[in-house]
Amino acid sequence: MSATPRSERASPQGLEPQALDVLAPAMRRRRRTVQAFPSPDSAAHVLVEGRQLVNFCGNDYLGLARDPRLAAALREASTLCGVGAGASHLITGHGSEHARLEEELAAFAGCERALLFSTGYMANLAVITTLAGPGDRVLLDRLSHASLIDAALLSRARLRRYPHADAAVLERLLEARGTPTRARTRLIATDGVFSMDGDLAPLPQLAAVAQAQHAGLIVDDAHGFGVVGPGGRGTLAHFGLAAPAVTAVVGTLGKAFGTFGAFVAGSAELIERLIQGARTYIYTTALPQPLAAATRAALAIAARESWRRERVLALTARFRQGARAAGLALGASPTPIQPLILGSAEAALAASRALEEAGLWVAAIRPPTVPPGSSRLRVTLSAAHSEAEVDRLVATLARIVPATVPP
Ligand SMILES: *Cc1c(COP(=O)(O)O)cnc(C)c1O
Repeated sequence: MSATPRSERASPQGLEPQALDVLAPAMRRRRRTVQAFPSPDSAAHVLVEGRQLVNFCGNDYLGLARDPRLAAALREASTLCGVGAGASHLITGHGSEHARLEEELAAFAGCERALLFSTGYMANLAVITTLAGPGDRVLLDRLSHASLIDAALLSRARLRRYPHADAAVLERLLEARGTPTRARTRLIATDGVFSMDGDLAPLPQLAAVAQAQHAGLIVDDAHGFGVVGPGGRGTLAHFGLAAPAVTAVVGTLGKAFGTFGAFVAGSAELIERLIQGARTYIYTTALPQPLAAATRAALAIAARESWRRERVLALTARFRQGARAAGLALGASPTPIQPLILGSAEAALAASRALEEAGLWVAAIRPPTVPPGSSRLRVTLSAAHSEAEVDRLVATLARIVPATVPP
């Protein structure tokens, strides 16, 4: 019988209604308004509430979000085809910039076809609700992104969460039902790069379990594409896995590629099923074509200027080396996402405020985004940072974060 506490099945964190008056002060979210980008030389410099800060918590890993060539592509396409798509893809909203971008993304991901979505959130809803339904099972890594959890709940399949990156427990959960019942779909879904920890999913092991257990495997590589693997081709490429090892891979365009939107890549049959059935594809306005044009420019620049990927990875190594020398406890992340886990929400907030006093912007990440007791500073590196800025961040962290011995 199942040993999973009931709460894990029924109520993933963050889905309980929150009354504002019982929200602890350290748990209340507050938006910060970026007023300007004061430096023409650094996309990482922002003006926030009158103070100039170096942004160390965005997802603009390749420093492309404010690249003038992306803005020029967006402007040119908006002159040619207007701003809004004016309809969904299946009515009149699908244009040649979309079609070309989908071909380029399929080639980039090494898949037969790709399909554009307005956001990664909607792409995950699409894949899981199209492939799984009532009576099916969805198995998620304990630290999966919220959109995968919501997708599983919306599908009305039975949701189980397995311990982080634990392929052996995953296999036992799948075996526990006896011989694989092929009539029922079982779907495994995981982040490729975990968004709050920066570590990689053990994809070779997960793919082997999926194959042995006749389960599907969905990889959400929102933080992998553009950064991880040869040519930035993502976590699958990092492990030398070919596209057929998974059922679908999801990528977002708002992170390393610096624009907005998302895609699903996979077999031609999968993409056709999504076009015919995915409600977050069918019942929504198409992504603006100028954004597709800007993304095509970003893909081309990322491919040509491989120094961007090399640079963000070199800055990541520099940060880790400095932090380790300063006695700061780092996780196992090989990616530009470098969390420093501080425990309480109050501790994370206090550290974030002290960094801000020093001109460094690192947001405090608190529950329910991360499990209780693991509030953290989620440092992210970008090709837009300088070595001196990374060194300044390390020196400031060493001053304000109590030194801890790595576990
Ligand atoms: C950011 C993110 C998403 C959502 O992508 P959007 O395009 O921002 O909606 C999905 N999955 C993961 C792992 C993410 O980090």
